[in-house]
Amino acid sequence: MTIITHLINGEMRQPDGRTASVFNPSTGEAIRQVELASTATVQAAIAVAQAALPAWRDLPPAKRAQILFRFKQLLEAHEEEIVQLISEEHGKTREDAAGELKRGIENVEYASAAPELLKGEYSRNAGPGIDSWSDFHAVGVVAGITPFNFPAMVPLWMYPLAIACGNTFVLKPSERDPSSTLLIASLFQQAGLPPGVLNVVNGDKEAVDALIESDEVKAISFVGSTPVAEHIYREGTRRGKRVQALGGAKNHAVVMPEADLDNAVNALMGAAYGSCGERCMAISVAVCVGDAVADALIARLTPKITALKVGAGTACGLDMGPLVTAAHKEKVTGYIEDGVASGARLVVDGRTLRVAGHENGYFLGGCLFDRVTPEMRIYQEEIFGPVLCVVRVSTLSDAIALINRHEYGNGSCIFTRDGEAARRFGNEIEAGMVGVNVPLPVPVAFHSFGGWKRSLFGDLHAYGSDGVRFYTRRKTITQRWPKQQSQESAQFAFPSNG
Ligand code: NAD
Repeated sequence: MTIITHLINGEMRQPDGRTASVFNPSTGEAIRQVELASTATVQAAIAVAQAALPAWRDLPPAKRAQILFRFKQLLEAHEEEIVQLISEEHGKTREDAAGELKRGIENVEYASAAPELLKGEYSRNAGPGIDSWSDFHAVGVVAGITPFNFPAMVPLWMYPLAIACGNTFVLKPSERDPSSTLLIASLFQQAGLPPGVLNVVNGDKEAVDALIESDEVKAISFVGSTPVAEHIYREGTRRGKRVQALGGAKNHAVVMPEADLDNAVNALMGAAYGSCGERCMAISVAVCVGDAVADALIARLTPKITALKVGAGTACGLDMGPLVTAAHKEKVTGYIEDGVASGARLVVDGRTLRVAGHENGYFLGGCLFDRVTPEMRIYQEEIFGPVLCVVRVSTLSDAIALINRHEYGNGSCIFTRDGEAARRFGNEIEAGMVGVNVPLPVPVAFHSFGGWKRSLFGDLHAYGSDGVRFYTRRKTITQRWPKQQSQESAQFAFPSNG
């Protein structure tokens, strides 16, 4: 069986330690083994990244950008192969995998504007005869730790921009679906990236701990669940590192009485059940303003949910593939049982779904709960599966208050034709990414991505202009060239333009 190893100093390392199985969630079969890096292997990768840093940092940004251009071309040329690996190990549909890759490529395009992004700021005559400028310096060795649900896109949020800014990088992808991530990193090598600038160590907590504990790692970008995000933020910042740690979510969609219901229903179908609900921006709660809206929404959603086309992710033309692992399927079904036990009405039960020929796959059909209330676990916790909860409220004020009380604040959206309601929602809602008749308001690469509250630990969002700030340190130089033989005397008062 193939063993997925590490990419260190431009080479695939030979296996040297523990391994874990990587499954095809559509069949339930172990299809590969992934190496789990030891502390020593991670330290070796960090040392290589540290050694590659001086030359890479000093390379003109325009030359770095040329490598990124070639990387983008290789990603496009290898789309089929990458999409196949994502679908095979994650289970998402091919179309969904292609969408994630395209979004990742947009981050490469943004990063290839490095010469523009790093231009800095200049003031002539900041004081008498004094010029001043700020420029942006690489932070050093940066580590990235990524989740299973976007094995191509989330790593591409991180290292193209970090590397464009002159840093070197050690990536620790999810051990559940590592193959596409490793292939993409090897394409960056092929594009002409010098060895050691990007290193990939596969592994689990041991590898993550080694990254946190290293003095050479100056910054960490993390994306994953909230408990791990909080742990990494706390441990990383305690050691003086810069950390941005993006966590879990519970994204609400408010449906107003005057909304275009057909549009809202179609949008909710894609946002709740796309990728089997395994997206940090998935809509998992529909907040209906008024019983009439709730009844009408449920009546229209129900036949569509039961008609979802579910099958092996690698097939074409499907709506949904399986969940990622057997353990995750068990967790999601546990939430469904909990919802029933706590009194929510299970309108559509996806647990009975069987996919012919794939009896051992981790499939679960779409589920819909009505009469969900805020004290229920299915409302409070992130389920990360194809489960939509309907909560009924009386007014927009109630909807906003409900959402703002939730511990997560990643994304939120409103379906309405009322401009005043939309504007109020945008102003008052406590979430980092807001949609108006847009169910998945994932910012494009030239904006930045991040939630509020317990969906993000740190100050700066991912990619875009916040990403440039995260991956660089500002330096401000103040310069004066006194005239020859000027007889200026010492000044003891604090210098000012006053
Ligand atoms: P996860 O937290 O289990 O794993 C994320 C990464 O952390 C993986 O690389 C994993 O190996 C590592 N890890 C896991 N446990 C660890 C531990 N105890 N100590 C150190 N490292 C550990 O997350 P996941 O299940 O892979 O991904 C799903 C989660 O990610 C969901 O909660 C989802 O909302 C979140 N997510 C958030 C965003 C966002 O932008 N906010 C984007 C995608 C996914």
